[in-house]
Amino acid sequence: MTQVSTSMINNDIVEASCVIDDKYSIIMGDERFYGMIGKELPNSLLNLLSLDDQETFCSFISDMQINKPVVVRVKVKKGIYRWVLVRKLNIDLKKEHTEINLMFHDVVAQSDTFKIYYDNTRKYRAFMNYVRDKFFEYEFGADLITIYMYVNGRCEIFEKDTLDEWEKRILRLGFVEAADIDMFRRLCSNIRDGVDVFSINIHTSLMSKGFRMDTLNFRGETIVDVTGKVMVAGLITEMNGRYDLKSIMIGNDANKDSATGLLNKRAVTDDIHDIIQNANSEKDSKKLFLMIIDIDNFKSVNDTYGHRFGDEVIADLASELRRTVGERGIIGRIGGDEFMCLLTDYNSIEEVRVFLTAIRSKLRIELAKKNPEYTFTVSIGIAAYPDNGTDYDTLFKLADGCLYIAKEKGKDRFIIYTPEIHGDLINRDTKLRNLHIGANFMKPIDKLEMIANFNDKLLREGRVVLDNVLEDIMNRMDIHGILLFDKDKKCDKIFGHYKVSNVNGEFFEDDKYMELFDEHGVNVIFNISAISANFPKVYEAFSQLDVCSTLQIKLIRDGMLQGIICFDTFGEHKRKWSDTDVCIMYMFVRIIANVY
Ligand code: GH3
Ligand code: MG
Repeated sequence: MTQVSTSMINNDIVEASCVIDDKYSIIMGDERFYGMIGKELPNSLLNLLSLDDQETFCSFISDMQINKPVVVRVKVKKGIYRWVLVRKLNIDLKKEHTEINLMFHDVVAQSDTFKIYYDNTRKYRAFMNYVRDKFFEYEFGADLITIYMYVNGRCEIFEKDTLDEWEKRILRLGFVEAADIDMFRRLCSNIRDGVDVFSINIHTSLMSKGFRMDTLNFRGETIVDVTGKVMVAGLITEMNGRYDLKSIMIGNDANKDSATGLLNKRAVTDDIHDIIQNANSEKDSKKLFLMIIDIDNFKSVNDTYGHRFGDEVIADLASELRRTVGERGIIGRIGGDEFMCLLTDYNSIEEVRVFLTAIRSKLRIELAKKNPEYTFTVSIGIAAYPDNGTDYDTLFKLADGCLYIAKEKGKDRFIIYTPEIHGDLINRDTKLRNLHIGANFMKPIDKLEMIANFNDKLLREGRVVLDNVLEDIMNRMDIHGILLFDKDKKCDKIFGHYKVSNVNGEFFEDDKYMELFDEHGVNVIFNISAISANFPKVYEAFSQLDVCSTLQIKLIRDGMLQGIICFDTFGEHKRKWSDTDVCIMYMFVRIIANVY
């Protein structure tokens, strides 16, 4: 056995190179090489290697492939052996013999250098968390501009697009003030041309996606990394200084699920959508895995240990998920006890299988700490891009269908979509989903508190947050879909998976139907088939949407009709709205009427 030293000595050689011929004779070495091997100068490099590694080394040398390295024990000064990674830099086929240029990297020294880089990266990430500006970078090879920031230790991508597309889109959407359009173009060409250093101010609403004009300063520089890759990196600062750290957090809240800090349904869906779109436009065959996770028997956790305990379990599970997924994917909360994740850094289903096994046991262990008497389990459905589908809807339906199968088979398992086994899940989808949608769970006082919070949010931040609030209430109140019609009865907003996407408000043109609304502007229909005889047209329209129960409330401000909002459930899920819930929703709609 060769004894190998793994301690670091101050003046250890980290890297060295030499040239040998095909008989392993050392032709020359650099200073670091001779420094490494010390005074003894063997004729053959083989004499420097541990006997156990000589065969490996010989086959490494005879293999003409350049990029495959080998790790061997090399005798350095005074008979001490070190683990060294050897790479071939080039092979020169000369007439008389072959010359091979080798590079040696001391493995222990390398890993120490790596540790320093790793620690530095973590340190800089921590700094980046506290920087109120956004970061941008442009990769020349990929032609991609990315704008991002760090929040809670995670990189949140705000924009990612090709530079051309980004430039065109921002201009098309009118996000740049007319007087500054040339400036914005100049910014894009500075980035595109890799100008050394630049600093440009622009009056634009691109940070708030059209809602608020800011004066932004883009400053950046072109850098070349060690591999010769060129990129532009810089900062975007708001000059009017309106956003401080707190407002970033609040601004960012729009994408966050407040209970868990994960992305909310809208944000995670949008992000996953974008990643899939990007993968479709890239040439390399990227693999992505869409995964839906649902806690098993969560209702009974609430029933047994109380709702607050249930909330804690959700928060703990969410942070464990975030930790486990790390930067190898994105994750968000899409329902009460349901999470969606896109794994972006796995190359095969086998790797994902290992990940899933790990995540299941990790969740079980972590959650058991909360209450060892209860075994917490989850069910998971997964679909793979591009093998099972190349668009979000298909992948979602497949993963969701698999989740349902996992539940059906007795829970506590993951099901990876396999067409030969699971067949066509797409067309079975709507029925499947309706079965595992939970009922009302919150206590009335909690619901009131939730509405009060939404009230505050809407009054503080206005219409901008309406979509998020509606989406939130949909998830929290177990509503499957929301339609918002404006005062002209045109459908203005749709949330949820309605069967038909172009919805019109014909129902409300029917005066007789409108008489179903009471004096407060509320109309509750428990089972849509109840109106099939009296309002066949309205019934037909609802059926096409797959609506089963609906709670409709008029948006009235200062006595004027501003619109109508429908809270629907689909399929066979008949929703019995309790009086308290109707009152709560009524109150909620009154607030919406004020900002709509
Ligand atoms: P299954 O095993 O089929 O998943 O059944 P389940 O009991 O987990 O019920 P399901 O997933 O269909 O519904 C989720 C339940 O989780 C509904 C509700 O009782 C509860 N829930 C949803 N959101 C929250 C929340 O924010 N806090 C708490 N404490 N409970 C929630
Ligand atoms: Mg569940």
